[in-house]
Amino acid sequence: PPIIIAIDGHSSCGKSTVAKEIAQKLSYIYIDSGAMYRAVTLFALRNNIAGNEQVDKQKLIQSLPEIKIEFRFNPQNLRNETLLNGENVEEEIRQLPVSQHVSLVATIREVREAMVALQQQMGKNKGIVMDGRDIGTVVFPEAELKIFMTARPEVRAQRRYDELTAKGQQVAFDDILANVIERDRIDSSREVSPLKQAADALILDNSDITRQEQLDWVLQQVAS
Ligand code: C5P
Repeated sequence: PPIIIAIDGHSSCGKSTVAKEIAQKLSYIYIDSGAMYRAVTLFALRNNIAGNEQVDKQKLIQSLPEIKIEFRFNPQNLRNETLLNGENVEEEIRQLPVSQHVSLVATIREVREAMVALQQQMGKNKGIVMDGRDIGTVVFPEAELKIFMTARPEVRAQRRYDELTAKGQQVAFDDILANVIERDRIDSSREVSPLKQAADALILDNSDITRQEQLDWVLQQVAS
């Protein structure tokens, strides 16, 4: 089987769900590259470097050496946790304020350079599944299997809405839909490493298929 599996695609189309499932099947390590951009964004929000849908780029670039991001496996709940300077921020980085600023943060060249270096380091000599926006194009262009995932925006927003409300969060469907569309717009049009399909990526549109059908399809690609 392949050593590096790169999963890229649009916002909220279930990349991490598939990535985790395959990693588990193959006993590979799963790395959520979006969590890293989210953790940087949370740092920026907490330190008034970001807010009101704006980011102070220069300040954030200066602060990069103070931001340490790690992943830790929690054997108690079997979950991967994202650590920001040693603190578990796994829950907080999924909330709307972070989602509303992360794509802006991710346009900053210096931020991307730092994250890509960290991602390449984490992937050294291991079987890994990494999901994000530029994994097959920039982080691991040599990845043996590349999948580009997408789904209709309304389908993606509904899934994210269900996920957040199931956790008891008060969110409006229209805000989520607007956020999904806006993140795709910024991600696809930014100057540095824009979201795009690698020439050798396989497309997976999961608007109208079940989770099991999707997993079967991906496992078939891994095997072939
Ligand atoms: O994957 P997730 O939706 O958690 O990523 C959050 C945001 O981080 C994306 O909308 C995108 O702006 C940015 N990102 C990126 N490159 C990656 C992963 C995420 O620019 N490899």
